[in-house]
Amino acid sequence: MDFSLTDEQQMIVDTVRTFVENELYPHEEEVERTGQVPKELGQEISQKVKDLGFFAANLSTEVGGGGLNHLEFTLLERELGRASMALSVFFGRPSGILEACEGEQREKYLLPAVSGEKIDALAMTEPGAGSDVRGMKCSAVPDGDDWVLNGTKHFISHADIADFVIVFVATGEEESPRGVRKKISCFLVDRGTPGFEIRPGYNSVSHRGYHNSILNFDNCRLPKEQMLGEPHKGFVLANDWLYATRLTVAAMSVGRARRAMGLALPYVVERKQFGQSIGKFQGVSFKLADMATEIDAADWLTLSAAWRVDQQLPSNREIASAKLYATEMLARVTDEALQIFGGMGLMSDLPLERLWRDARVERIWEGTSEIQRHIISRELLRPLE
Ligand SMILES: Cc1cc2nc3c(=O)[nH]c(=O)nc-3n(C[C@H](O)[C@H](O)[C@H](O)COP(=O)(O)OP(=O)(O)OC[C@H]3O[C@@H](n4cnc5c(N)ncnc54)[C@H](O)[C@@H]3O)c2cc1C
Repeated sequence: MDFSLTDEQQMIVDTVRTFVENELYPHEEEVERTGQVPKELGQEISQKVKDLGFFAANLSTEVGGGGLNHLEFTLLERELGRASMALSVFFGRPSGILEACEGEQREKYLLPAVSGEKIDALAMTEPGAGSDVRGMKCSAVPDGDDWVLNGTKHFISHADIADFVIVFVATGEEESPRGVRKKISCFLVDRGTPGFEIRPGYNSVSHRGYHNSILNFDNCRLPKEQMLGEPHKGFVLANDWLYATRLTVAAMSVGRARRAMGLALPYVVERKQFGQSIGKFQGVSFKLADMATEIDAADWLTLSAAWRVDQQLPSNREIASAKLYATEMLARVTDEALQIFGGMGLMSDLPLERLWRDARVERIWEGTSEIQRHIISRELLRPLE
């Protein structure tokens, strides 16, 4: 067993960290204050990432992507996670599911996403169907050679800047061992398609400037060529491609926690109370010890889950454990870091209160902590049933 990084892995870490510190950190305060990323800034960030050769690093080299394996990509996401999502979204990691594009879909969606000409968003969640994805009401019915979509999606990240959306809808019902369940299919829907509206979503306490949208489909007619994958196989498609996003959340949580730790460490030396550095009080130094231990634990859990995926080993439980632990760790670490700063920790003059707020969403999106526990316990118990 070798825990050291190869030269190439170290290069990924160093390059992305330097980029994040030099190109993203300087804009964070402004983005947080205004709740917006100017269009030109987003384009500038993407162009710099392209110049570095890191754009679409997650997609395969066959389609023009960077071809990073899961472990390498997790290292990249870990560094990117230090920065605000409002800015890091422009780093350009199109959804891996686009590799399922076939025929003309490749020229129309996959290749422009790889080159950065088009931005994608992904829509599953609905007002009445969050964790229970199969409970979705948004539907598509066949009509001649077309499908007609109706319904609403909400909480859809960065749909405001997307050129097209990967949308999951119900396309019928089927019998299953657990009773009747909805059949799900996936469509690629262009912004501007008649009957498709993207509306501003809600203001979130986390990641201000990284917007979510509400999508409305009102008799939105799509030619059958807009379907991604096979009819009624949307769930298979999602399972084949979307597990990676949970690893991403875990990795980003580790990166953000390390940033909070990096702020807290020098402060405990510099800040003096009762005639000595506060780090000399065990009440403070033990916090640091716990934070460092938990961050390392989350880091190794995440990296080893990514490694298992690359080895094609079963990894459902390990990914869920990484997502669960890393996001809960991030909440504890940012909270303790804030505590170490005392009153100043709450002030927007420092990035800490933002890291603390941003941490909150990580336990909710890409499957809540409760859903991760459900996956982990199901995987543990399944062999015994
Ligand atoms: C800022 C933001 C951006 C998002 N971006 C996207 C996006 O781009 N695309 C997209 O499709 N979705 C997106 N989501 C949706 C996100 O994935 C859902 O919020 C999440 O899956 C939870 O669904 P819900 O909010 O409807 O909560 P619910 O599913 O209603 O859950 C409510 C509570 O019940 C618990 N619960 C539910 N079922 C169970 C169970 N079986 N066992 C135990 N507890 C349970 C949950 O853990 C939670 O605590 C985003 C969400 C947010 C907040």
